[in-house]
Amino acid sequence: MTDLHRLSIRELAEGLAQAQFSSRELTAHYLKRIEKIDTRVNSYISVTAEQALAQADAADALRQAGQASVLTGVPIAHKDIFCTQGIKTSAGSKMLDNFISPYDATVVAKGKAAGLVTLGKVNMDEFAMGSTSENPFYGATKNPWNLEHVPGGSSGGSAAVVAADLAPFSTGTDTGGSIRQPASFCGLTGLKPTYGRVSRFGMIAYASSMDQGGPMARSAEDCAYLMNVMAGHDAKDSTSIVKEVDDYVANLNATPVKGLRIGIPKQYFNVAGLDADVKARVEESLKKLEEMGATLVEIDLNMTEAYVPTYYLIAPAEASSNLSRFDGVRYGYRCENPTDILDLYKRSRSEGFGAEVQRRILIGTYALSAGYYDAYYVKAQKVRRLIQQDFLKAFESVDVIAAPSAPTTAYKIGANLSPTEMYLGDIYTLAVNLAGLPAINAPVGFDQAQLPVGLQLIGNYWSESQLLSVVHQYQQVTDFHTQRAAIAEENA
Ligand code: GLN
Repeated sequence: MTDLHRLSIRELAEGLAQAQFSSRELTAHYLKRIEKIDTRVNSYISVTAEQALAQADAADALRQAGQASVLTGVPIAHKDIFCTQGIKTSAGSKMLDNFISPYDATVVAKGKAAGLVTLGKVNMDEFAMGSTSENPFYGATKNPWNLEHVPGGSSGGSAAVVAADLAPFSTGTDTGGSIRQPASFCGLTGLKPTYGRVSRFGMIAYASSMDQGGPMARSAEDCAYLMNVMAGHDAKDSTSIVKEVDDYVANLNATPVKGLRIGIPKQYFNVAGLDADVKARVEESLKKLEEMGATLVEIDLNMTEAYVPTYYLIAPAEASSNLSRFDGVRYGYRCENPTDILDLYKRSRSEGFGAEVQRRILIGTYALSAGYYDAYYVKAQKVRRLIQQDFLKAFESVDVIAAPSAPTTAYKIGANLSPTEMYLGDIYTLAVNLAGLPAINAPVGFDQAQLPVGLQLIGNYWSESQLLSVVHQYQQVTDFHTQRAAIAEENA
């Protein structure tokens, strides 16, 4: 079969169950595509062909023995921020280019237990800090819709592999938009779950109070299959929540769009820098949802202007603390010929970290230092609470909140935005992480340059099923999620 990569996750599961193809055939098919196509996309940091084929054989054997579960034998790509036993986990950094984790992240372990086959580990912004996946050490990942453009970030590799059909779905992480924005830039569906829904154990920390893993795929249905694997309490993550997990696949039609109240924050559609095509496509998608029976309600989110400064204070503060462990002593990069311990620390960190990571460590260290702590960090935490309250108040009168996922479509590689320009591009995604809420990106069309546009729906806590369900129903009557970039149409 030459077109296995065109099948949805449900179709892959059915095909495997009906023995239309084996996991080995399916895995080999993807490995061949990766070999042929990824030289142009640069999405994989590590391709684990041998292990993948062995996992595929094991999956086929389980199936023969009648012990397969629904996804047994389906391939996946993991963001290179999830620790994988025996396979390099770089977090997109020279600092960890030699790091082989002795254990699996919970998300990876759950994937293995569900029978998923790991094709490899994919590129990202260094330590998940960034929006373009122009990685200083592993090179830029390309947007499959136009190879001169960025795929977004930080989960840019996770988005590119799916958009180029180099994996059927992937894991991503979202601290301030890193699942939703690349999903938007690459025409995919991506879900950032409620903080605490997916275990952070073995997920290399950026800003721990906001980091959250989630699925990236073509459709809400595909994402639901992966959420069924990823979600759940984990005793190894103290902020993971003890709460029953939904069956996200079974719930795909559970939330009627008829009668759904969608909040439209008036502040969001007057943001300077909101691209006219993005605005138009998002408005068209809302009109469609209205035709399907939803009601659009204008709401106020008064704290909008505070999102970027609050996030870019708290996230670097947490990063400076989390990244202090990379000191060249225990593991990771170590500079050549250190003269003494200080020289070892200094040069290992200066040579091992890229410029953006260093910038954030400096900002964060400054904000946390004595004398500035109250003025910056404590203040930001107070504003964070106000942002959360803004949302809770809005959810008293609406079921979900609509926004673009990003003010623009994918820009060119090498656009070289200043840090502030780059940070302002996160205006629509950051508040969700500050408040710990779930949100989803759905593809809703293209701009004049044929680059994808995304709609973001933000839900109240634990409303992942509702978000997936609304997008699923939208995807039953639209076909943006099934359209493919030219490179995905190529056969290997
Ligand atoms: N672009 C944001 C940042 O640079 C978000 C990154 C993320 O979600 N990991 O911090």
